[in-house]
Amino acid sequence: MTTRISPSLSGKEDVEKETGIIPCFRCGVCCTGRQVHLDLVEARRLCDGLGLNWYVFLSNYVDPKWSNYNSFLLRQQDGACILLKNTDVPHRKVCIAHMFKPSACREWSPSLHRRECQQGLAKDWGLMVDTEGKLCGSDEKIRLFKIYLESLNTAGCSETYVETEGIKRYDSERFENRREESI
Ligand code: SF4
Ligand code: SF4
Repeated sequence: MTTRISPSLSGKEDVEKETGIIPCFRCGVCCTGRQVHLDLVEARRLCDGLGLNWYVFLSNYVDPKWSNYNSFLLRQQDGACILLKNTDVPHRKVCIAHMFKPSACREWSPSLHRRECQQGLAKDWGLMVDTEGKLCGSDEKIRLFKIYLESLNTAGCSETYVETEGIKRYDSERFENRREESI
C-alpha cells in the first residue's frame, strides 16, 4: 500500500492509502540537474508561447553546447532549468512555460515513489516516505504540509511571476490534482 494525499482538506480522506499519487507540490527538484530535450516543433511552440523572437530564444534559452539544428536542450541556470523560477511563496517554484511546456515535462507525473518528489519533501518539509509509501514526520510538519497542499488548490492564490525577457507569461490558473498540472 502506498499513500495518496489529496490537495483538499475538506474531507477526512485527505491522506489516503492508495497509489502513491500526490499533487505536485512544486518543489522544482525534477527540473533541477537534468536538461530537457526539445525537437524543432516543441522548440518553436515554446518560443511562441514565451512570446520570443526565435533567435532570442536560441541565444538565451538553448544550450549552445548542443549543436543540432533539429533538436535542442534547454539551458540551465543556477543548476536548474532556465524556465524554473521562484515565487514569493516559500518552497514554491513555478515553470513559466507551464501552459506550453515540452512533452517530456507534461508526461512526468509526481509520485511518492519518485526519488525527486521524495527529495523535495525532505528538503522543503523535512518529511520522509517509508517503504510502504507513507509520509513520515512530526505531526506538526505533516499538518503544515497539508495546509500548503490546500493552498495549491485555493482559487485566486496569487504568486509573483518572474518576467522573461520583460514578458510575464505564466497564467495564474489553479493547480488541480491532475498529471498535466504538475510543475
Ligand atoms: S517543467 Fe518547465 S521548468 Fe521544469 S524542466 Fe520542464 S520546462 Fe523546465
Ligand atoms: S513532480 Fe515532484 S519533484 Fe517535481 S516539482 Fe512536483 S513535487 Fe517536486
